[in-house]
Amino acid sequence: MRQPLVAGNWKMNGSLKENRKLLDELVSGLNTKAEVLVCPPSVYAQSICEQLAGSAIKVGLQNVSDKTSGAYTGEVSPLMAKDLGIEYVVIGHSERRSLFNESDEEVAAKFCALTDQKLVPILCVGETLEEREAGDTMNVVTAQVEAVLRTAGPERLANFVIAYEPVWAIGTGLTATPEQAQEVHAVIRGLLAKHDQAMADRTRILYGGSMKAANAADLIALPDVDGGLVGGASLIAEEFQAICHAAG
Ligand code: PGA
Repeated sequence: MRQPLVAGNWKMNGSLKENRKLLDELVSGLNTKAEVLVCPPSVYAQSICEQLAGSAIKVGLQNVSDKTSGAYTGEVSPLMAKDLGIEYVVIGHSERRSLFNESDEEVAAKFCALTDQKLVPILCVGETLEEREAGDTMNVVTAQVEAVLRTAGPERLANFVIAYEPVWAIGTGLTATPEQAQEVHAVIRGLLAKHDQAMADRTRILYGGSMKAANAADLIALPDVDGGLVGGASLIAEEFQAICHAAG
């Protein structure tokens, strides 16, 4: 009942020429029941929206401001995303949290700014290796999810996505085992259920962290894994297409 979602997080990669080639290859032969999304650097979003118009692939952003407009040099607002016809925006990625010091509070403010414009946040959460080794995984993930649920309040929780991305698995080639992924996904769904069972049942929880064609099917088949947030492998058309096909 939850349509799988496969989202490519291109991070700070690509060029006009490379993007065009990658997307031409991706579109041709793509045949999946999953919803497919690519999140390029925002400077390329408009040209990619134009290239993908009429295709089944949607365009998202990797980050957004919590402000609507004004004197915020370098920022991109939810209204601007909406202006391009964008629906999904990734927030709280671990690289934003660790390299740009984004706090749970800032991530929650971005969540609210997006949902207030009827945009769909893809909220990233996940523990570091030290936190996992210290047995703190569930506490960390719970705190990250609860910070948003608490701030957003029930009205803003109509439509959003969570991505569980263990930090130790991102870009490292180390993937969570299906058991590790399912365990955390089930805890996250349980947290949502404490607020609202129907919301927990409909909200998609993606896995991210070295997902590739070779492991996608096993992960996405898990009862509480509803797709993937894919970094490195989303830059290779064949790999990303195979992940989309593994999703349904
Ligand atoms: P990765 O990145 O697939 O390259 O590990 C995932 C992400 O950071 O979203």
